[in-house]
Amino acid sequence: MTQYVLPDLAYDYAALEPHISGRVMELHHDKHHRTYVDGANKACEILQAAREAGDFSRIAAIEHTLAFNLSGHVLHSIFWQNLSPEGGGTPQGQLAQAIERDLGGFAVFRKQLIAAAETNMGSGWAALVWDPVGARLLTVQIHDHQSQTIQGSVPLLVLDAWEHAYYLQYHNEKAKFFEAVWNVWNWKDVARRFAEAQKASLKLESPTESVPGQRRDGGSRERPAGRA
Ligand code: FE
Repeated sequence: MTQYVLPDLAYDYAALEPHISGRVMELHHDKHHRTYVDGANKACEILQAAREAGDFSRIAAIEHTLAFNLSGHVLHSIFWQNLSPEGGGTPQGQLAQAIERDLGGFAVFRKQLIAAAETNMGSGWAALVWDPVGARLLTVQIHDHQSQTIQGSVPLLVLDAWEHAYYLQYHNEKAKFFEAVWNVWNWKDVARRFAEAQKASLKLESPTESVPGQRRDGGSRERPAGRA
């Protein structure tokens, strides 16, 4: 069975200081993220055993555990790459243009993302995502790691709003963390994700090939008169 693996960081734990302390990064990556990787692998093993036993009596709990842990693995893996010791500044090129078009510009986007992070009740994330249905950038407020996401959307930039992301360094002043992280955003990584995300499409319309006797909405052309 394929195993999920904790990815290495592209920089040292202390490389994002003073904005994110080395100790926070070490615990966050090596303890918290690892827990989600292990949890996702364990959930897959339990599902495999359930299939082999033909016993799905605990399926709801297992599916919840899988979604939580695998989503945690995905978001943290993106988060590490969204950060860089050479980060900060503002996005350029097509990403900057799309932020201007869809979100009213960088300053407004920044406020919107921070507001989404700050108002998360309990644990969660704020994220910039590409919505392939509307072909636009959106922000989302994710609860835990998996709830209140938009199906089909592609995460481009994710901001961890769990207490484990900042409490050791910023204590109860999480707003300071949500400001400091803008000094280390890796906009090149976000732009790369944006370019990749736009290649994928998610078509919600029915196939255009017409089937004789049927309309595209599934109704019949030759409906008997007087009958609905
Ligand atoms: Fe986290």
